[in-house]
Amino acid sequence: MGQLGKTSVALMRMLLQGRAPGQLIIQYTDQCNAHCPQCGMRVSHQFPRKTLETDKTAAMIRSAAQKGIKALSFTGGEPFLHLPQICDLAQVAGQSGIEYIRTGTNGFLFCNSGQADFTDRMEQLADQLAATPLRNIWVSIDSSDVATHEQMRGLPGVIKGLEKALPIFAERGLYLSANLGINRNFYGADKDHDHLDYDFFYAGFDQFYRFVKNLGFTIANVCYPMYNAVTDSDQAVYAATASDRVVNFSRAEKINLFQALSDCIPVHREKIRIFTPRCSIHTLLHQYRGHAELSTPCRGGIDFFFIDSQNGHTYPCGYRGDEDLGDFSALNIHSVENRKECRQCDWECFRDPSELFSPLTGLRQSPLQLLQRWRNDRRFFQLWLEDLRYYRRCHYFNGRELTNVEKTGVCQRIKKRGYDETGQ
Ligand code: SF4
Ligand code: SF4
Repeated sequence: MGQLGKTSVALMRMLLQGRAPGQLIIQYTDQCNAHCPQCGMRVSHQFPRKTLETDKTAAMIRSAAQKGIKALSFTGGEPFLHLPQICDLAQVAGQSGIEYIRTGTNGFLFCNSGQADFTDRMEQLADQLAATPLRNIWVSIDSSDVATHEQMRGLPGVIKGLEKALPIFAERGLYLSANLGINRNFYGADKDHDHLDYDFFYAGFDQFYRFVKNLGFTIANVCYPMYNAVTDSDQAVYAATASDRVVNFSRAEKINLFQALSDCIPVHREKIRIFTPRCSIHTLLHQYRGHAELSTPCRGGIDFFFIDSQNGHTYPCGYRGDEDLGDFSALNIHSVENRKECRQCDWECFRDPSELFSPLTGLRQSPLQLLQRWRNDRRFFQLWLEDLRYYRRCHYFNGRELTNVEKTGVCQRIKKRGYDETGQ
């Protein structure tokens, strides 16, 4: 049996045991050089910063692979402040058999694109990243209005640099993802009002997808707002959360936001790979409309875990900081006793895959609930099937290749540089 066959069999076995493929998010550092108002790790926020030790992190990664973790993410802070270490750790993960490895950046390396050595720097960076088994690399985008984005991040010129750099990455078979952290300025700072309606969000998402596609991205994702009752408390361990108004939305605004996002995705997802699953948005809408029973409890602390850079300990997620699960290597992730059902936040890293796997994990875990869901919410299953078919056509968002989905709309700049549309 080939590697693909073995992976599929292992995946099916796991799902039939009621478990979702494991995911580990390692916050390698909380150091950062950006100014984002929505984030507790912005450079102006004074607190003792910590970076994990590389050897200990490598040991955790090997342990994660042995425990069956399938997806590994290096987050920050700004991971690219420690790029050589992140590249080495990605190699450790790949050699240990973890396939889905990702990291991201605020894009600070793309600044100063007017300097004479910019192209050389980008070629070296792309070569360095292409030599790793990193499958996905995201670049954070806060607004489709360039001035607003650069002012929020405190990174002048970053968009111009990205525009120049993306074709260089594409020539090496690296397709970066644009990652929008939804905030009140995402459609431009001058458009924020007391109450944001459906039309605002729809126009904002529509503009965002057009903007990043025109920049040269071929994959896009959105991060749901990182503010809520949990993140506003002292419990949150992951400091990429804040109580700033810029990420604070009322319940009515969230309903408008998620409805507009769901409606906008089909308009764009045949031109750019859009990771956001509509079945997950559908259930978040149920939750905000008062029908939480029609959504799936998060797999945080069951199949998905977070490692904090401050002490290197494991937590159920980035928010439940009062549940220190200790050293990841010593953790029995197959014991799910006393793990609570949680729907306290919208963190897409955990909520989206929890929903995506729910019809399969539910077969073993709660078949009666699954049947009830089938009776009460057929629309969820329709959207789920559509998402699965789409994910398949997108090659599960492999950032090391182009797919038919976006080839027709592939970045004009890539074409101008003589890129062969067959992807070869
Ligand atoms: S959102 Fe990211 S780039 Fe911005 S301050 Fe936080 S860690 Fe840094
Ligand atoms: S919903 Fe998931 S990510 Fe959010 S607080 Fe609960 S376990 Fe954590």
